[in-house]
Parts: sequence; structure tokens; C-alpha cells
Amino acid sequence: MTSTATLTLALSTGRIFDETTPLLAAAGIAVAENPATSRKLVIGTSRPGLRLLIVRATDVPTYVEYGAADLGIAGKDVLYEHGGGGLYQPLDLGIAACRMMVAVPEGFDYAGAVRTGARLRVATKYIRAAREHFAAKGVHVDLIKLYGSMELAPLVGLADAIVDLVSTGNTLRANNLRAIEEIMPVSARLVVNQAALKLKRDAVQPLLAAFADAVAAHA
Ligand code: AMP
Repeated sequence: MTSTATLTLALSTGRIFDETTPLLAAAGIAVAENPATSRKLVIGTSRPGLRLLIVRATDVPTYVEYGAADLGIAGKDVLYEHGGGGLYQPLDLGIAACRMMVAVPEGFDYAGAVRTGARLRVATKYIRAAREHFAAKGVHVDLIKLYGSMELAPLVGLADAIVDLVSTGNTLRANNLRAIEEIMPVSARLVVNQAALKLKRDAVQPLLAAFADAVAAHA
């Protein structure tokens, strides 16, 4: 008997959901409703046994790690901060692409500050990535954890620099900041719970293959 295991895919609304639905469509999977308007957190799809969980972006790895979702879609930034425990990371979906950058106010002499060994205050949501980046460069920093609007921090004297995601660069420009160093390129990845990969292999593998084909067709 071939049974179709129920598969749950966790993802966030906004950019990731908006850029995932065309990939799902290319794989022949229609999403029953738009969570932005329906406010529903569990959403069915046209693929038997596949449902979507709408969670906060930073919670996606947690749902997948604990098996509350079998699969998830999250940015490399989020996965890096989470650490990746319990997650199998099979596929770069190439969506929600941007760069994690260090940025400073226009006119701030970053190179000079680094040269003189100054201790810099850096505001960011990405503590782990920032700590490793500056440690590798031998730059002394005090990291200040923020949950959003990092661009504001240097404008009001909270920090000398920020680490944030940059896409068009418009947000930096609008706030008189300039990007000075790239920490990593970022895009969204498909992650799979390691136990689900083994125990639900018959359901997971065809879905991974469908995503891989959809990504290749979109490339
Ligand atoms: P931009 O003005 O296009 O450079 O976008 C920068 C703003 O959008 C910042 O507040 C970033 O945190 C956010 N952002 C840019 N790209 C992404 C992404 N791929 N995922 C999540 N947030 C992003």
C-alpha cells in the first residue's frame, strides 16, 4: 500500500511567501489562499497531504528543528543565526536574494577607526554573523542587539555602524548610510527536519525534486 504522509512546510509571509508561490506553481502546486488577506496560519495546497504553516521568519528553523514542520523556507541570514541544528539544508531556492553588509554613516572614517584599534559599537539583529565577521577581521566591537530598523541606530548615536540586509541600497541611502563590507550573500533555502527526511522519505523526496526542478526552470 502506498500511503501519502502529511507534509508540513513552514514559511513566513511577505517576500518569502510571495517568491515561493511561483516556485510552487511551477511544481504544479496551488496554494489555497493568501495568508496576507485570509489571516490563516495553516493553509492547504492542491498537493494531497501538503500544507503550509505561516510563522515568523526567525521561527521557521525552530518549527523544523522540533519536527512541528517537516520542511521550511528561510533566509540564509536566519539559518545562520539559528545555527542549523537538526536541519538538513538541501536547496538554495535563489529567492529573496540580498547581501548582509556592514554600513556606516556617510563621512564616518571606518578604515581610520579600525586602523587605530578603536572599539566600535555595532547595532544588528545578526549577532552571530557580526561577531564572527569582526573577529575574523580583528576589529574590536561591542554588539548591540536590535530587532528592527537598524538604520536608525547610527542616526541617533546608538551605534557607529550596523550590520543589515541590503537589497537595492535605497534604505541605506535614505538614511545617509553607506555599505562598506559584505559579510555574506543571502538567499532563501529549503530546509528539512532530519527525522522527516528518513521517516517520510517517500513523500519528502518527490517534493524536493519538484522544488529543484522549479528552481532550475526559474534560473
Ligand atoms: P533595500 O532598501 O532594498 O536595500 O532593502 C533594505 C531593507 O529591506 C532593510 O531593512 C533590510 O533589512 C530589508 N531586506 C532587504 N532584503 C531582504 C531580504 N531578502 N529579506 C528580508 N529583509 C530584507
